[in-house]
Amino acid sequence: MRAFGTTIFAEMSALAVQTGSINLGQGFPDTDGPAAMLDRAIHAIGAGANQYPPGPGMPELRRAVSDHRAEHYGLAYDPDREVLVTVGATEAVAASVLALCEPGDEVIAFEPYYDSYAASIALAQARLVAVTLRPVAGRFTFDPAELRAAVTPRTRAILVNSPHNPTGTVFTREELTVIAELCRERDLVAITDEVYEHLTFDGVEHVPMATLPGMRERTVMISSAGKTFSVTGWKTGWVCAPAPLVRAVQTVKQFLTFTASAPWQLAVAYGLRQEMGWVSALRAGLQDKRDRLMEGLSAAGFEVLRPSGTYFVQTDIRPLGFADGLELTRRLPELAGVVAIPTQVFYDHAERGRHFVRFAFCKKDEVIDEAVTRLKRLSGS
Ligand SMILES: *Cc1c(COP(=O)(O)O)cnc(C)c1O
Repeated sequence: MRAFGTTIFAEMSALAVQTGSINLGQGFPDTDGPAAMLDRAIHAIGAGANQYPPGPGMPELRRAVSDHRAEHYGLAYDPDREVLVTVGATEAVAASVLALCEPGDEVIAFEPYYDSYAASIALAQARLVAVTLRPVAGRFTFDPAELRAAVTPRTRAILVNSPHNPTGTVFTREELTVIAELCRERDLVAITDEVYEHLTFDGVEHVPMATLPGMRERTVMISSAGKTFSVTGWKTGWVCAPAPLVRAVQTVKQFLTFTASAPWQLAVAYGLRQEMGWVSALRAGLQDKRDRLMEGLSAAGFEVLRPSGTYFVQTDIRPLGFADGLELTRRLPELAGVVAIPTQVFYDHAERGRHFVRFAFCKKDEVIDEAVTRLKRLSGS
């Protein structure tokens, strides 16, 4: 694991603290989740939910997850055999990859990819095969022929993250169909990271892979409370999949963490049942913040790509006269008092992402406004 060293988030967040910069790097909200849900967690501790919960997760949460899947997506998962509570989506991805891959197997992921994927695949001694997302008409997408060519006899799974961090792309039904056809033809499992499932904009709808024909039986569907309810510190996620797949993932999970923390599970169960209205308001608020940041970044001289979901905006830095995002983000605190993330660190082919920089907009309006004011120094505008 030497190659994985310190993550870019640790480096950039430390830089933000050292220099007193505004941190639009790491994607965590600077406001809290729904108050009644927070109270539920406090209440759960007072009421004695303080010992090991069952390995698969507390029945209250598994039932709430199952009902939520049925209500939002028309998907039926048996709360006792087909739902597993995990320590965030991060553990869900790691346990899924470890459960499903033998050493030497290949896992396809779309680059730029969420950084834990490469580490999880390395822990399984499997190999990540990256298929590149490129902007076409202002939106990151993949070339179906390139995806098809990436499949080999060793391919075991395709990791699909939609809505996609860090590009903000929400895969269309057509794009998902291309992936689904390959999974069926080549007998692959789809591991789907859907942590931004509720955070889509402009009326764009999130389509879960498991709703496509023939896919429920070969999809490991992963979600998390962190992004949905603005409680990224709670690290409460879940896996929904057919029973044999859940059993395999749980077999690994029990030796990673055994179980997830009890108070959050009860609070999230409450959130899924009672706070989806709050989530709709969060989504609308985030769309306004996206527009606010996009407008500001354009005015500051960046070329801005419009995301349809997530917390993030991608910018092309070349109009400002810069070529390398890593170099620029390391200097950005001194140049403008702002921290951002160089997108190239999420690629295997770093040169393909060299000119992109990611900014997070899940921040208070006044924080976004101040960051934009500072960034205007870059072009002297
Ligand atoms: C934030 C994030 C995660 C991590 O979720 P946790 O529930 O905090 O583990 C996983 N995948 C993506 C794409 C994310 O943005």
